[in-house]
Amino acid sequence: MTDTIFALSSGAPPAAIAIIRISGPDAGAALQAVAGRLPEPRRAAYAALRDAAGDMLDRALALWFPAPASATGEDMAELHCHGGRAVVAAVEARLAAQPGLRRAEPGEFTRRAFAHGRIDLAEAEGLADLLAAETELQRRSAMAMAGGHFSRQVERWREQVLTAAAAVEALLDFADEDDAATLPADFAAGLAALAGEIGEWLDRPRAELLREGFRVVLAGPPNAGKSTLFNVLVEDDAAITAPLAGTTRDVLTRPVALAGLPFLFVDTAGLRDAGADTVEALGIGRARGELVRADLVLWLGAEGEGPASAWEIAPQADRPGAVAKRQPRHRVSALTGEGLAALRADLVATARAALPRPGAAALNARQHRLLAEARSALLHAREADDPLLTAEHLRLARAAFDGLVGRATTEDMLDTLFARFCIGK
Ligand code: GDP
Repeated sequence: MTDTIFALSSGAPPAAIAIIRISGPDAGAALQAVAGRLPEPRRAAYAALRDAAGDMLDRALALWFPAPASATGEDMAELHCHGGRAVVAAVEARLAAQPGLRRAEPGEFTRRAFAHGRIDLAEAEGLADLLAAETELQRRSAMAMAGGHFSRQVERWREQVLTAAAAVEALLDFADEDDAATLPADFAAGLAALAGEIGEWLDRPRAELLREGFRVVLAGPPNAGKSTLFNVLVEDDAAITAPLAGTTRDVLTRPVALAGLPFLFVDTAGLRDAGADTVEALGIGRARGELVRADLVLWLGAEGEGPASAWEIAPQADRPGAVAKRQPRHRVSALTGEGLAALRADLVATARAALPRPGAAALNARQHRLLAEARSALLHAREADDPLLTAEHLRLARAAFDGLVGRATTEDMLDTLFARFCIGK
């Protein structure tokens, strides 16, 4: 990595201020060329930015962060310019003309921070989630991951495994001698305790639930009032733009934040067995698929005919001829608003219990898989009756921990992760 990158790191112009960051071995020379001097490290200095002919481009604040105490671990500079389009374009053109400088790729600053050990992989993943966070709960969970809480936990587990591995190595080293060494008395119990601790993390709600939202599916026969209820549930609420996986013509999904919690409401085709034509039958098939994927089903049909754990909803409560239910969880009217506040409050309380706790780091699919591998290796290490096997299983556990914080990663994986960032991050 010998080239120096630069990018606009603040939002799209026009804006009050535009922050342009420069990182790499030529950052200092570039700053000196554009601002006329190197300010004192980590102090904002007022500077006139000039083009190659000496004409003024802008008056700006300049900052100088010499390596290694910078965000990327390289020499870095920041220019806080006026945020007009022409100002930004002129300063960027000036930088692009500097020897060794080029425009940054998406996520490249963060990738360099990772390459120089300023952040580990779990923290980088947390950072990506933090920038994508749209609800308060997502923000707090991403903060926990980006802040290194999980990384420090993995580091503690890794050290315990290294200690256990050292004990097994000692046993193997002295295996030929008469007074054969033995493993510490609490060796197996220690591994079991470690596996148990990891198991608790594995049982926690997952990051995907947090990212995609708590999935609430409205189901019932045609004309039960599903679409109308769906509309009132989503319409007054801040719509969020989480990815709409599985959106189809006949299954309508809408991400919404209620009380800072991410929800995904799903409206399905009416469920009926007889009399459906081919197109409708397709819709019904998809609706049944949605019932399986749901975190919660609101059942608007006849009492007892919905999925087992669905909530019985008595819809259209204002209408005399509405579906009568003896024990509905909620009686609602999308028309008059009756019962809607209670339904929303119940949804919020239920989702809050199912989603990760505020501020708790939640595992993504990759982290969950590696942690499950570590746990399984530890349990095998505990049960193995040959110290050679024990040593091998402990090595596998350590490899899984290494993968979690990025001591062992592939380029593909890094490309995918850092492509999630925007340019300038
Ligand atoms: P879906 O087929 O289950 O999605 O049902 P719709 O939401 O399309 O509703 C079917 C009919 O019932 C429509 O004519 C709606 O206007 C009416 N409807 C839905 N909800 C209510 C309600 O709460 N009160 C009353 N009076 N009519 C409703």
